[in-house]
Amino acid sequence: MTTPDQLGSEFQASSDFVMSYMLEGGTIAGRMVRLGATVDEIVSRHDLPLSVGLLLCDYLVSAAAMASTLKFDGILTFQTKSNGPVSILVADVTTDGKLRAMVSLDRERLATLGAKPSLSALVGQGYLAITVDQGPDMDRYQGVVDIVGSSISDTLHHYFKQSDQQDIVIKTAADYQDGHFRAGALTAQRVAFEGGNVINEEEALEDWRRAVILMGSATDEEILDPDLEPSLLLFRLFHEDGVEVQPPKPLEAACRCSAGRVENVLQSLSAEELLHCQDEAGQIVSVCEFCRSAYIFELDDGGRAVLVSQTR
Ligand SMILES: [Zn+2]
Repeated sequence: MTTPDQLGSEFQASSDFVMSYMLEGGTIAGRMVRLGATVDEIVSRHDLPLSVGLLLCDYLVSAAAMASTLKFDGILTFQTKSNGPVSILVADVTTDGKLRAMVSLDRERLATLGAKPSLSALVGQGYLAITVDQGPDMDRYQGVVDIVGSSISDTLHHYFKQSDQQDIVIKTAADYQDGHFRAGALTAQRVAFEGGNVINEEEALEDWRRAVILMGSATDEEILDPDLEPSLLLFRLFHEDGVEVQPPKPLEAACRCSAGRVENVLQSLSAEELLHCQDEAGQIVSVCEFCRSAYIFELDDGGRAVLVSQTR
């Protein structure tokens, strides 16, 4: 069995990471995710009210937990479309740990909600689409589920059930303290037996049920507390079963937009369309809906769009 000291020594201080763990029986694996600076940066770029900021934290941290289980390079996207004040919410995570998000919201409708609106008050009725994109040469996977319950994890559990993945559980937490957002998630999942001490399916099932209960016993404060080393939390939860952790992988806010991509889009437009894109100052301003970076182009004498400045 791994000891707390051995676990703790693998942790390098960072507020933004995903850590994989496996219980000693070999049939249960999971993830622990924490986000600090990442969610602060993403939420502040969109200037969101607290309730929407916390909702976005939940989306980002659960998307990061799921993306970390992909066995190939790609992008996992959560996209909500609904009829509430928050009508579109997109959070995407690359398998190398880059997160971004965009939100479309009606601030007037939001202002009529109380201080702590429920998930259903924020998003209304709609769906969550989970997409896995492995690049242009591969098929995209997409699963769609109705938004249900009081949190994104309720909707995800509904999704797991609907897609016959009943052996995954997730618990998320988010808060806002001292001017900073924090988010965290724990997951547990049954995995194919690869050695260990478990001798039969019944015992493996019993281990699974116990792990679900133990994971569920983690408090929001434990999940979020940046001073509580993740490996120590995992040991605290699962010590009777023995737990092995992998070194944490960093997560960060990073967008995939670039001046070159905007330029490619502009080059595909006709001269007439380009003229139509110009503002009164004769500039074409493209603002990334994810990171709010602005790319400003002007038309040269040949009518070709040329980047003149950008803000990130
Ligand atoms: Zn961007």
